[in-house]
Amino acid sequence: MSTFVDRILETVVARNPAEPEFHQAVREVLESIAPVIAKRPELARAKIVERVVEPERQVIFRVPWVNDKGEVQINRGFRVEFNSAIGPYKGGLRFHPSVNLSIIKFLGFEQIFKNALTTTPIGGGKGGSDFDPKGKSDLEVMRFCQSFMSELFRHIGPDTDVPAGDIGVGGREIGFMYGQYKKLTNTFTGVLTGKGLSYGGSLARTEATGYGLVYFVTRMLQSRGTDWKNKSVVISGSGNVAIYATERAQQLGARVIALSDSNGYIVDNDGIKLDTVKRIKEIERGRIKEYVAAHKTAKYYDGCQDIWTVPCEVALPSATQNEIDRKAAEALVKNKCIAVAEGANMPSTPEAVEVFHNAGVSFGPAKAANAGGVATSALEMAQNSMRLNWPFEEVDRRLHQIMNDIYDQCVAASETYGAKGNLVIGANIAGFLKVAEAMLAQGVV
Ligand code: NDP
Repeated sequence: MSTFVDRILETVVARNPAEPEFHQAVREVLESIAPVIAKRPELARAKIVERVVEPERQVIFRVPWVNDKGEVQINRGFRVEFNSAIGPYKGGLRFHPSVNLSIIKFLGFEQIFKNALTTTPIGGGKGGSDFDPKGKSDLEVMRFCQSFMSELFRHIGPDTDVPAGDIGVGGREIGFMYGQYKKLTNTFTGVLTGKGLSYGGSLARTEATGYGLVYFVTRMLQSRGTDWKNKSVVISGSGNVAIYATERAQQLGARVIALSDSNGYIVDNDGIKLDTVKRIKEIERGRIKEYVAAHKTAKYYDGCQDIWTVPCEVALPSATQNEIDRKAAEALVKNKCIAVAEGANMPSTPEAVEVFHNAGVSFGPAKAANAGGVATSALEMAQNSMRLNWPFEEVDRRLHQIMNDIYDQCVAASETYGAKGNLVIGANIAGFLKVAEAMLAQGVV
């Protein structure tokens, strides 16, 4: 079967040179689904895999805007509409200087299978820009978002493509983009998710990815006969996912002792005081090192990579891609970490995942473990279509159920295909099969 993987990967690499993150994401999925293709020749005949690795549409555009000094700035915008077999394209927008086509395509490709796992009817897409909101004034961010949407609006719509937030895109950015979309189209529709509560947002969407991650890990811990009580937890990042994973884990009795940003990390062995983190990151938009000024027992260390040397029982990488390499994974194993689950997208390199599997560490892959955010976005779309709002508890209850269903699907698929306990293979197969059946039914389109 490796010839199947090699053959398709060779074409993907040749057609999409200089896109290493995209190649990495494709390879992982191909390796997992090879046994499915062997069992289902009709999928091979219909060239489902060859089709699924090719985005349905990609848009790259110029985003000109003017900074506070009156200088013209030019950024690049992206939207990759990857697969609409099971619903409108859905996936976040990332604003970060590292954004390029490879990163957007890896995220969009992963999103196809993640969205399929959520049990909600949404296809896969992703977008963003190399614009960096950090250090920009609110007015600069607004001007950028308006310019970005002045092109993006042509390609999206509530039944076509429904973007959301991601790194660098929170409530402020979504608000500015929504306003511009509404002005350009003269419609008030659920075209973006992650909206403010006063204009169509869903309760619990802000918390959803982090809370969902914790619900998923609850099942991973249960399968080892344990729970969150008194577990020491290290979480990378200090953005949306990291903050709400910390909140839910703490509510369930865990001791979260470390968080980070791209400059460094903090360790507070008494347990992170989340109110301080929320103040610094959500209100003041400051840096994580400011935490130590408020809590003298905490220590700050420069450089974010060494966070994985902090001993812990549960690790939740929730910052960015490829942040846990082999060395970091070995450090976690050495310190007796029992569970790792990905809050960020593809934060573990393939070598790191191998280290975890070989050491018997429970490993929750991103497309399953962090699917709570997009699942709740789908719940936001449902509420927008019905023109009503569910209470927080209702959304959280549905999110919890979805995370349980995702876990069960991953376990079932891994067992059916002879890879019991391997949630990477389980997630890839379960997500792929749902999309493949829909593509097969819809003919060659
Ligand atoms: P935020 O922008 O809110 O926070 C990102 C955090 O990660 C910040 O602390 C940031 O630090 C850090 N970070 C970003 N880039 C890097 C880098 N290159 N190196 C080190 N640290 C970095 O983003 P989110 O919390 O929303 O997203 C985090 C991850 O979770 C991403 O991989 C995203 O794709 C994924 N995700 C998010 C979902 C959501 O609903 N928000 C849903 C599913 C997945 P700094 O401030 O210094 O940049």
